[in-house]
Amino acid sequence: MEKIMITRASMPSLDEYVEEIRELWNSHLLTNMGKKHNEFEAELCRFLDVSCISLFTNGHMALELAVQALGLKGEVITTPFTFTSTTHAIVRNGLTPVFCDIRPDDYTIDADKIEELITEKTTAILPVHVYGHMCDVEKIQHIADRYHLKVIYDAAHSFGVRFGEKPVGSFGDVSMFSFHATKVFNSIEGGAIVYHDPAIGEALKDLKNFGIHGETAIGSVGANAKMNEFQAAMGLCNLRHVKEDIASRKILYERYLDKLAGIDGIIMSQVSQKMDYNYAYFPILIKPSSFGHTRDYVYDSLRENQIYSRKYFYPLTNTLDCYKNLFQTQKTPVAEYVSDRILTLPIYPGLCIDEVDNICSQIKQMN
Ligand SMILES: *Cc1c(COP(=O)(O)O)cnc(C)c1O
Repeated sequence: MEKIMITRASMPSLDEYVEEIRELWNSHLLTNMGKKHNEFEAELCRFLDVSCISLFTNGHMALELAVQALGLKGEVITTPFTFTSTTHAIVRNGLTPVFCDIRPDDYTIDADKIEELITEKTTAILPVHVYGHMCDVEKIQHIADRYHLKVIYDAAHSFGVRFGEKPVGSFGDVSMFSFHATKVFNSIEGGAIVYHDPAIGEALKDLKNFGIHGETAIGSVGANAKMNEFQAAMGLCNLRHVKEDIASRKILYERYLDKLAGIDGIIMSQVSQKMDYNYAYFPILIKPSSFGHTRDYVYDSLRENQIYSRKYFYPLTNTLDCYKNLFQTQKTPVAEYVSDRILTLPIYPGLCIDEVDNICSQIKQMN
C-alpha cells in the first residue's frame, strides 16, 4: 500500500524549471534581488491583486521582520490556534503575546473577544486566516482604528483567497504569505509581505538585507532573509499552474464534503459564501460522544493504513513548553475544545478521487 501524506508539493515539469533557470548560468547572479526575484514580485502583485509586495526566503522571516518593521512594543493580541511560527514571530521580537479565543465555526480569532484583552500596553493584533478561512476583517479593523492598533495578518494559508471583490491581502497593515513546499502555492521555501505604506516597504527592504541602507550606511539591526533566484524561478513556474491546482483541490474538497456528510459526530467547517476559497486544507472536527471514537483514535487508525492525517493545530501555542517561563497565558476554552478534536485530511492536486473515497469509507466504518 502506498503512503498517502497530508500534502504533496506542486512542481512544474523539469523542462519548464530548467528553462526558467537557464539564464542564471549566463548571469551568475543567484540572489540579492535579481531578475527572477523582480519578475516574480511583479507577477505576484498581479495574481494577488495588490500593489506592494516584498519577497522573503520563507514565511516565518517575513512575519518576524514585518513585526520588527512596524516598530511594535508591549503586547500583541493573537490566536493560539496556529502554527508555532505565528507566536514565535511575536516572542522573538521581544513582545508579549496575549491569547484571544477562536470562533467555533471557522476557527479564526473571535473578534468579539479582542476588546476585553486590550490594555495600555497593547500595540497590535496578529490574527491568522486559519485554513484559508478569512477572519472577521471588518470587525478587527474597526477595533484597531478605535484603539490605534496595527493589524498584521498571518495569511500563510490563504494564497489567492478573495472576500467578495477584495483580495485577502488588502486587509490590515500587512499580510504574510508563505510559499513553503507544503502550502497551496510554493517557491520551494519562500514568503512575502503585502503592505500598503511605502515606509514599511523601505523598512522591510533594509531588514531582509542586514539593515544595509546604502553602501556605507547600516540603518537597522536586520537579518538576512532574501529570496534567491532559484526560489523565484520555482515560484514563477508554479504560479502558471496554481489556478489549475486550486481547481483540482476543489474537486477533492467537495468529494470529502459529499462522502462524509451525515456521519454522526463528524463536523465539517463552513466556508463563507462570500469567499473565493483556495481549498488549502480539509479539517474535520470529531465529537467522540456521537462518533464513538476520539480524534487520536481516527488519526492512529488511518496511520495504520498508511494514511497520514495531521492534528492541525494541536497543541495550542499558549500551552507550549518553550514559553513556560516567559509570560502568562490566557485560557482559551473554545480553542482547547477544537484543538483536541480537529484532524486535517490529505488534500493536494494529484490525490486520486478513489483515495478520497477510501479515506472516507474508512472513517465511516469506524463510526
Ligand atoms: C507555514 C506557516 C507559517 C510559516 O511559513 P514558512 O514559510 O514555513 O516559514 C506561518 N504561519 C502559519 C499559520 C503557517 O501555516
